This record gives sequence, C-alpha cells and structure tokens, in this order.
Amino acid sequence: MSDTPAKLSTELIHHPYRPPAGFEAVPPAVHKASTIVFPSVAALRSRDWKHKTGYTYGLHGTPTTFTLEERIATLEGGQYCTLVPSGLAAVVLVGMALLKAGDELLIPDNAYGPNKAFAQGELAAWGITHRFYDAMNPADLAAKLGPKTRLVWLEAPGSITLEFPDLPQLVAAVKNHQNTHPQGVVIALDNTWGAGIAFKAFELGIDISAHALTKYPSGGADVLMGSVVTRDQALHHLLHFCHMRTGFGVSGNDAELVLRGLHSVALRYAAQDSATRSLATWLQGQPQVETVLHPALPGSPGHEAWKRDCTGAACLMSVVFKPGYSQAQIDHFCNSLKLFKLGYSWAGPMSLCAPYDIPAIRTTGWPYKGGLVRFSVGLEAVADLQADLSQALAAMQYSKA
Ligand SMILES: *Cc1c(COP(=O)(O)O)cnc(C)c1O
Repeated sequence: MSDTPAKLSTELIHHPYRPPAGFEAVPPAVHKASTIVFPSVAALRSRDWKHKTGYTYGLHGTPTTFTLEERIATLEGGQYCTLVPSGLAAVVLVGMALLKAGDELLIPDNAYGPNKAFAQGELAAWGITHRFYDAMNPADLAAKLGPKTRLVWLEAPGSITLEFPDLPQLVAAVKNHQNTHPQGVVIALDNTWGAGIAFKAFELGIDISAHALTKYPSGGADVLMGSVVTRDQALHHLLHFCHMRTGFGVSGNDAELVLRGLHSVALRYAAQDSATRSLATWLQGQPQVETVLHPALPGSPGHEAWKRDCTGAACLMSVVFKPGYSQAQIDHFCNSLKLFKLGYSWAGPMSLCAPYDIPAIRTTGWPYKGGLVRFSVGLEAVADLQADLSQALAAMQYSKA
C-alpha cells in the first residue's frame, strides 16, 4: 500500500476533539440526550439550528456525533457530514433531500439493490422517475441524461458484480450535459466500497458521498450507520434540513462503536485487501471456476480504470462457476463452507458469502451462464480460508447436479 492509508490513520487518531479540562483521555466521551437545556429564553431563541456551531436537540447532534461527523468528513476528504441510522438511510436521505415530483434520477444497473428498490417504490410513488444505466458505458449515461435529470448515482465498483467504472468519464458525461442544461444535476456516489481509502472521491468531481459506515468504518459487524458527506455548504444545508425534518438521528452509543472502529479502518482495509487478492488469485486457478470478479485482477471488468484511480481494493470478490455446475451444486458448495458464513453484509471480522441470481436483477445484460457467489473476506488467517474454500469446492465437485 502507498503511505496514504498510514497518513489517514494518523489523522483519524489525532483529531480535533478536545476532552474536558483535566480529563485528557484518548477516546472522546459518549454524550447522550433527548434534549439539551438552555440557560434562558433568549439563549433558546437565539440558538442557530442551521450551522453546527452549538447544540439544539438530541436528534440533531451531540458532541459525540459531531466528532464522528468531523472524522468521516476527514476520512473522505469532504467538508460536511450528516449521520443517518444506516447506509440505506444515507441513500434515501439524498433522494428525499434533492428530488421532487417531475424530476428524474439515474442509477447504475449494477447498483446496490435497495437503492434501485427505493427508486422503484417510494420515489416512483412520489412522481419521481428513474432510469438504470450501464455504468461500464459512459455513452449510455450520456444518452439517458435528460431535461428532467436532477440526480445521478455512481457506485464503484458495482454491487455484487464488482465492475469498476471509469468514474472521471461518467462525471464528464454529467458535466457536459450541464453545459446545455444548466439547471444542475447532482452527482452522488455510493462510496461504501472505497470507504474513503481506495480512492479520493471528491477529487474525481462528485458532489455527494453516501457511505454505509456499517461496513468498514465500524468493522465490528455490530452497528448499522450511514453518512452523507459533501464539500458544498448549500448542498449540505439541503441534506441537513431534510435530516432534521425526517428524524434520521443516530444514537451516541452507536456513534461510539464507529469511533472505535475508525482507528483501525485503514489497517483493516489493507489487511483484508491483501487477503482477498490472494484468495481471488488462487480461486482463479481452480477448475470449477469460470472467472473471479475483483477489480485488481487483470481481465476483471474495469481493471484498467481501477488501476488508474485506486490505491487499494475492498474485501469483496465474486466467483462465477463454470456453466456445468447446477444451482443445487453451488448451493451445496455454500452450505459446505465452515469459516465463510452465509450472510449479506461485509467488511466485518468474519468471512461471509451469499449466492446471487444476477440475470434476475439486471436490465443491461450479463455475459455468464454459470451461478455466482459473492464473498466478503474477513480477518481470519488466509491459509484457513483457502483450506475452507478448497474442501467446499471438492464437496461440490462430487455432489449431485
Ligand atoms: C451495505 C451497503 C449499503 C447499505 O448499508 P446498511 O447500513 O446495511 O443499510 C449501501 N451501499 C452498499 C454498497 C452496501 O454494501
């Protein structure tokens, strides 16, 4: 790894939080309150709700959540941060804050599934239309940008299938469109995979970063939280006021769990990256495997863009089996794994996997016939994980088709 993650670790550990005088402890305190009390009516009336210069009500922030917001903004190279109760809530907040009836949003076809489901469900019911585009084809995005487009989601790489898009080209397509449609299109990125570590999203020209802190920043598989980061104050105020109107606050105890996880996030990212690449390379050579999707593997879709724009990769890889293996055999492989547990989340200490039916969730086509299993590589010994995969591949080989 380059020295960027190491520098990031230093910044995340030596942060601006100042403990109360005489109590110079390393961790910040956990502050909890439904409300704060004001010393006078004049103080109550004059409290500023718009800028986070003081406290107004528990839902709108405590010293603990403000500290975490400052540190997530640091992690991602942004300026302003709003915390929400889950990564999905971060996606939802962006849509609710920016869109109104008659607007359209564009979402990559390989995006995180619930992002698409929110557009198909609530946003559609509110009169907001959506279109799915092929993130690996910037011309498809350019063709789908229209006079009603107000929000474009990016995700790098695609959820489950892990194609790494050419982010600068996708951003350029939106900016070109803005030259002829100056009403403004906001570019939001689901930055959960990069986590602020693999690439610097704001330097690529995005406006908003949504992040499932549930994954890497927590790292413990024990808390759900999300964040929305911007560099633009006007955009932040749109998000912040929507947040205040919808009651999407987070608890001090949950914020504390993420604060604890942040100290080691860059180290965990690097360790899980190296373990995943070593297992991905090994799997690539196994006779049952058609291909392994992981942006750091040469030949994996978007590898060149990944190489140009990233200094690391997350702990996800997807294995596509040879078409001769039935779904029952692939299910048997998953059931045979002992260290890899069956589950949807990722970036926690324990390795996980889940089978996916890609043609059922795709509109833009899929080149493979065989079944797919996505893996999240945890913090176990790589040799133990490889042995587990090896015994499950053998069990699949001799199971009934
Ligand atoms: C997990 C995930 C989310 C949602 O996070 P939750 O905290 O589980 O709601 C959003 N985007 C991506 C890419 C994710 O992997």
